[in-house]
Amino acid sequence: MFDYVLVKEQKIPVVADVDVLIAGGGCAGVGAAIAAGRDGARTVLIERMFYLGGTMTGGLMSKIAIAPWNRGLAAELLERMDQYQGTAWMQSRPEVPVDPELAKLLLDKMVVDEAGVDVRFGTVVSDVIREGREIKAVIISNIKGLQAIRAKYFIDCTGDGQLGFLAGAAAMIGSDDGGLGSAPTLMFRIAHVDVDKFIDAQEKDEEEFKSARTRHSPQEMRERYHAHRYIFFVDYMPFIKRRLAENPAMFSGWEQQVLTTRGLIFINQPQDGVILVNSTRILKFRGNDDVELSSAMVAGRRQIETIFRFMKNFFPGFEQSIIMDTGSLLGIRESRRIEGDYVFTERDISASTRFWDAVVSNNGGIEIHSPTGFGLKGSHLGKDEFYHVPYRSIIARDFNNLFMAGRCFSANHPGLSAARNIAYCIALGQAAGSAGAQLAKNGKTNVREIDIGALQEKLGDVL
Ligand SMILES: Cc1cc2nc3c(=O)[nH]c(=O)nc-3n(C[C@H](O)[C@H](O)[C@H](O)COP(=O)(O)OP(=O)(O)OC[C@H]3O[C@@H](n4cnc5c(N)ncnc54)[C@H](O)[C@@H]3O)c2cc1C
Repeated sequence: MFDYVLVKEQKIPVVADVDVLIAGGGCAGVGAAIAAGRDGARTVLIERMFYLGGTMTGGLMSKIAIAPWNRGLAAELLERMDQYQGTAWMQSRPEVPVDPELAKLLLDKMVVDEAGVDVRFGTVVSDVIREGREIKAVIISNIKGLQAIRAKYFIDCTGDGQLGFLAGAAAMIGSDDGGLGSAPTLMFRIAHVDVDKFIDAQEKDEEEFKSARTRHSPQEMRERYHAHRYIFFVDYMPFIKRRLAENPAMFSGWEQQVLTTRGLIFINQPQDGVILVNSTRILKFRGNDDVELSSAMVAGRRQIETIFRFMKNFFPGFEQSIIMDTGSLLGIRESRRIEGDYVFTERDISASTRFWDAVVSNNGGIEIHSPTGFGLKGSHLGKDEFYHVPYRSIIARDFNNLFMAGRCFSANHPGLSAARNIAYCIALGQAAGSAGAQLAKNGKTNVREIDIGALQEKLGDVL
């Protein structure tokens, strides 16, 4: 029988009454907060961790895909990051890394100091007060216990559609036929790597280290490394298979599977001798269950131990290396998405759809990471090809005052796989933040009363 406890009625103090409330301070939440704050809205951002950036910082997933022509807040943020950390990574567009720890410092400056947003860290959005199609308030939980915040507009930037879920909004999860979504990855960084020695070894015996996906020649790697430009080291699969065959007792069957599921993929960081590894893969994951989330973190750390052991033992230059840190957030590629007035799909990508209510333009291709094993299903768009994401995909179908931005926006499984990159999450957040500010300023009570022309003018650089 279903066991339960009864919660008694209680008075929860209302600690703020604002124009715009943003749940979640990942890159979408940051985009929404800066836009709403700059547009003059009284804005609160609720974040369960004690830093901004979400997957991009705490998840250590800090290589940002941004088309060369895409401007807006994402480009502004990356340009400031490059200056701040003394790199020339904007030259590497369409892929620009940021240092996750420095990004936390810069995001505090941009969101709290410059945009004047009231950020509540260590605070979880845990419930919603709803009347019909309106959200009246959210209940938050933090060191003071339960509190309530009222707002005119709410933006779900939790990545997992948690605010929408708590409010009872219709949501999608996994693939469109009821299957699983893309697999997540727990990222980690390694320090004390002699990168020059690693490149030397590749120069001496290019064949030994080559794989079908090798991106840079050793000479190019060296030039980029010394110019503080980023290098995509990928994926060393034949090398791994040879070492495993020569040392069959060194790794268990499970560990061998870990090492050959994705190969070894990593990039350099601004600090000399530090690399960031994107090589774990958690299989058969949905992302809406606390027990599953907990065991995914444990499995991710187990995989990290195996991967690190291989690299330290077999990669020249890794002899003195140590694990520097592991993600404090799991890198979730997809979980719940809230259903909007429009569901963005792969058809919009292949047709390069131009929407009358466009709020973001994107040129990311489909990228589905196999939920059950090795493999990536994908497509690429040409350098000048792009499609739009419409305003209707960031407003919740079941509500008058709820937006969602970032990886929980209204998209089906392949649609999300293309439009979940960091720059586009920032841009979706920026659109929702600006829209909320405009509506609140004009005394409107429904997201559908937006002056779309004025919003698009404001987002000009993004479109
Ligand atoms: C392994 C991996 C590789 C990737 N590779 C790339 C790449 O190379 N380039 C690229 O551009 N993109 C990449 N992406 C995609 C990109 O990183 C994510 O799609 C993007 O960062 C998601 O941002 P978000 O703000 O929507 O969500 P998140 O980053 O998940 O942020 C959500 C935030 O909400 C907070 N939160 C959640 N629930 C609550 C709650 N109830 N109360 C308070 N706070 C809450 C979380 O703590 C978090 O800070 C990758 C993603 C992964 C996982």
